[in-house]
Amino acid sequence: MSERKLICHKCQAELVMTSTNFSYMGHMMKYDVPACPVCGQTYISPDLAAGKVRTVETEMEDK
Ligand SMILES: [Zn+2]
Repeated sequence: MSERKLICHKCQAELVMTSTNFSYMGHMMKYDVPACPVCGQTYISPDLAAGKVRTVETEMEDK
């Protein structure tokens, strides 16, 4: 398992892993995602984006 450093392009700050709750169909799901400590922007990893979280985002966009 290799872990790459991620940098917020807006703040030039190193992202930190943050537990983020996603609400989906009345269920709360928690994922550790990289987030910028300055602006709070979260970055979904490719693994998550291709899986569950992608599904959640799609569902949310429909509303
Ligand atoms: Zn930022």
